[in-house]
Order: sequence, then C-alpha cells, then structure tokens
Amino acid sequence: MSLREAYDAYLSARAALTEDPYGPIWLNQEQRYVHPFRIYGNVWYVGDSWVCVHLIDTGDGLLLIDSGNCGATAMLVQAIYEAGFDPADVKWIIHSHGHLDHIGGANFFRRMYGTKLYLGAPDARMFRERPWISAIQDAHSTLETLFTPDHEITDGELLRFGGTEIACYLVPGHTEGCVALFFDARDSGETRRCGYYGGFGFNTLQKDYLIEIGDPEYKTRNAYLRSLARVRDQRVDIFLGNHCNNNDTLGRRKKQLEDPDGPNPFVDEQAWGAYLDRKRDELLAFLSDPANT
Ligand SMILES: [Zn+2]
Repeated sequence: MSLREAYDAYLSARAALTEDPYGPIWLNQEQRYVHPFRIYGNVWYVGDSWVCVHLIDTGDGLLLIDSGNCGATAMLVQAIYEAGFDPADVKWIIHSHGHLDHIGGANFFRRMYGTKLYLGAPDARMFRERPWISAIQDAHSTLETLFTPDHEITDGELLRFGGTEIACYLVPGHTEGCVALFFDARDSGETRRCGYYGGFGFNTLQKDYLIEIGDPEYKTRNAYLRSLARVRDQRVDIFLGNHCNNNDTLGRRKKQLEDPDGPNPFVDEQAWGAYLDRKRDELLAFLSDPANT
C-alpha cells in the first residue's frame, strides 16, 4: 500500500467512526472531562461524565476502582493530578468487570508505575479463553490490549490495601466476573460505608448476545437477579456508581457545589437499596417481555 493509499484508508476509517452511532464514545473524550472532587473523606471521584473511576487514599498508596475507558488514560492521569495526588502512587486498581470502558488505563499504570491489577476471576478467565467478550476490538485502536491480572478476585474475599479493607463479592450478570465492593471511607475519625456494584447494563442480557456467548438458556439473567438480591441488604451510606447514571454522580456533585457547607449529597442511606430494587424491577419487566424470551 502506498503512503497515499494508506492515508486514504485512514481517512475512510475516520469518516466511518464519525458516522458510527457509537463514535462519540471514542471521539474527543476530553469533552467528558470532570474536574475531580472529594466524595467523602479519603474517597475521590476521578472519572469522567460517563464512566466512573474512584480513587481511595488508603494511607499507604492509592487504590483506583476501575481505570476508565480505552483512550481516556491521559484524562485519568490529569484528574488524579488535579485532585492533588501523584499517579505514580497508584499501587492497585480493582476492575469492576472486564469490559473495554472500565479497563482503559490498566496496562499504562502497570507499565508506568508498577500498579497491581485486580479483576474478578471469571472475567480473568474470559480474557484468557474468550477475550472477544471484553469488546476490546471496539476500542478503535490496535494499541489497546487486555492484561493478565496480578490478582483474581474470588467471591467473599476480604482484601486489604493500606488502611482500607474491602469486602468483595462476585455479582455475575452484566458479566460473569462483575464485583461488588464494600468498605469504610474515613473522614477525620468518622467512617461511612461505601457500596459499589460493578456493572448494571442489560446490553449483555439480550437473546442474540447470550446465544453467542454460549448461554442459550439465558441463565445469566437469573444469575443477575440472584446477584442483586444477594447484596441488596448490605448497609451502604454512600452508593458509588459504576457509570454516572447509577447514582446521579453529577447531580450530587452539583448539589455539593451549590451548598458546600450543607449535608453531603453523597451520604444517602436510601440510594443503594432504591437503585438495586429499581434494577430488579426493570430486570423482571425485561424477563416478562415476550420480545426477550
Ligand atoms: Zn460493561
């Protein structure tokens, strides 16, 4: 291929991306930049306006929950700096699940800073055996790759990172290796319980999708219902989103800015249960819809 032909191929790929309804996920991601902010105590928001990334200052290194969309790593590094931290202090990343919009920074942090990568064991297996389920091929870059985690999270595991202890549960549904996490955030002597559910989307429960991934009986859907029920009654003061629409991250942030001395809008004991109940009801409606059976 001549230089000119190669350039033309580049232009047509670029034009196709602009026309693609999912193009905005990849083009100009910086439009989704969110100035980082403290959610509560040692827990910070460093994600964008679509996919969440949380930073926990454990007192002995930084822990990230998720590493953002593929192609958004520079933005994540900027957010960590802007929050007043050094990205080189990120010792660990726990990944909510193995989809491409949550693992974007993993390889960069490992190579650049020696960060240890954590992922639910079933999604680590998915990376090895059926990596296409990660959708990494949709990242519009052959520079993006999956990774072998340093640690595969198993159900019921209690993980310690500096002064933070995280109770981990596998909550299969959106992917098989989604994790739910529960831990205490600290703010000058006070603690609040944070709850995180690593993936709610129903996009992976559609008929054709499940048949393609080898679940012709749609068992994944009932597994998802059981997962929601299993962690529904955890005590959670602060519900952390996986995507911003889960807990209205930006609406709560707006309230925080409007009334900085008022009650912390992220401390909301009802939010976790209410959202999990809503997802259960939506899932039951999805299951009873003849179009999905
Ligand atoms: Zn996902």
